Amino acid sequence: MSSANSQVEHFINGSVSPSASGRRQDVFNPATGEVSGQVALGSVEEVNAAVAAASAAAPAWAETAPLKRARVMFKFKELIEQNHDALAAAITREHGKVFSDAKGEVTRGLEIVEFACGIPQLLKTQFTDNIGGGIDNWNLRQPLGVTAGITPFNFPVMVPLWMAPVAIATGNSFILKPSERDPSPSLMLADLFRQAGLPDGVFNVVQGDKVAVDALLQHPEVQAISFVGSTPIAEYIYSEATKRAGTFPLRAQALGGAKNHLVVMPDANLDQAVDALIGAAYGSAGERCMAISVAVAVGSVADKLVEALIPRVKALKVKNGMEDDAEMGPLVTAAHKAKVEGYIDSGVEAGAKLLVDGRGLKVPGHENGFFIGGSLFDDVTPEMKIYKEEIFGPVLCVVRVPDFAAAVKLINAHEYGNGVSLFTADGNTAHEFSRRIQVGMVGINVPIPVPMAWHSFGGWKRSLFGDTHAYGEEGIRFYTRYKSIMQRWSATIGKGAEFTMPVAK
Ligand code: NAD
Repeated sequence: MSSANSQVEHFINGSVSPSASGRRQDVFNPATGEVSGQVALGSVEEVNAAVAAASAAAPAWAETAPLKRARVMFKFKELIEQNHDALAAAITREHGKVFSDAKGEVTRGLEIVEFACGIPQLLKTQFTDNIGGGIDNWNLRQPLGVTAGITPFNFPVMVPLWMAPVAIATGNSFILKPSERDPSPSLMLADLFRQAGLPDGVFNVVQGDKVAVDALLQHPEVQAISFVGSTPIAEYIYSEATKRAGTFPLRAQALGGAKNHLVVMPDANLDQAVDALIGAAYGSAGERCMAISVAVAVGSVADKLVEALIPRVKALKVKNGMEDDAEMGPLVTAAHKAKVEGYIDSGVEAGAKLLVDGRGLKVPGHENGFFIGGSLFDDVTPEMKIYKEEIFGPVLCVVRVPDFAAAVKLINAHEYGNGVSLFTADGNTAHEFSRRIQVGMVGINVPIPVPMAWHSFGGWKRSLFGDTHAYGEEGIRFYTRYKSIMQRWSATIGKGAEFTMPVAK
């Protein structure tokens, strides 16, 4: 699937489906810069074929008892565990992140599968005996039919697993449109679903770009779309989805970009705060939507913090992610590397102090890889482009503020509101911060507060478009339609028509 110059195809109706569209795009190994294969870029016809397969499979799957659906999920879970290393190696090969981090990504995806194994309990609903006049009232959560997910390059296993297990366990069929930059793991997941006994057509993969995404958005049989990616595309998906007319309007949730701050209070344990910043800013080369890209240094802590960060950033082990001691791998593509370097140029031009410069790094033996070293800016101000925009690379910006109130004001004024973290030794400060900060996911002395599978993931402001967050109970709600039922039997039915509003009797 990922050997040299392999062709990465679609997976439709239970088997790999070679593309006839003729459009393909190179896939790279970012550590070497070499082309490892070509991914198919799906056509409208190929999307239509996937929707037809998903549509045909949906009714029988919806009628399959939740316990039987759960058994498929249990088997899928076991297969992911058996293939944990192979999935992680495929991630490292096309994304570049270090192997141990890729294994962590698989584990975080696996947790959603474990959550979905509890679907009989999760779909259990409420029942009221005798609301009056012999009538009982209860509710159902029924599947929507054909659902689709569009995912970003930075988590090619975890983000598809935020969506597909919940969509499928609740009784829907699902079409995945993975990132064209690291597409191979999607086919491995499809094969594991097949081995787990999932009926053909319930899980499908269409590779591709905007053409495939637009075809999914326009298809009248697609009932719900989950998107995770950058904010401009999230906004586009959400606005297109909500204006589509149909029997049921297309339901959408679109998770977007981020600019995550970590506030260091003067009373924080400095060593812990520095460790947290180094891991959260430079892990996965900063290509995480929950990466910390701004350190907010409050009052007297700033000079000490910056002095402690400089040697740690310079000492980062930047290598091929398959090497045991690698701490940071390359960026995903040459184009993305150039973009991140452009941000560093712009920070210098705007007058920020570049304390560590990662541009121009050459990794011995990997001279053509898309590597960049860790970079650190001090004296960054809110008007600068490097503060306002998401860089999505290993670049940490230090912003100095006089006090706690200024830190909260700074963060609340930012257009993004995905994740945030506060390092402090004071419970009252932490309490105030958690309540007043306008961000969807908050960490107190925790740098990357990604919620567990049975909570839900999502940001505020321009980091999420839609009403529901991903996975957990919000995910169950997103992939099901609520129905309320009232029932009574003839012995309790009174004679004669009633013209007044029904009330409890
Ligand atoms: P991206 O927006 O470029 O791509 C995401 C998906 O959209 C891909 O499948 C891609 O093929 C598709 N796409 C790209 N351009 C399109 C267009 N013009 N029309 C329709 N579809 C299009 O994002 P990316 O670079 O792959 O991923 C990084 C971004 O994702 C960052 O902004 C990051 O913050 C964000 N992200 C957010 C979360 C979250 O949970 N909020 C999680 C992971 C990543």
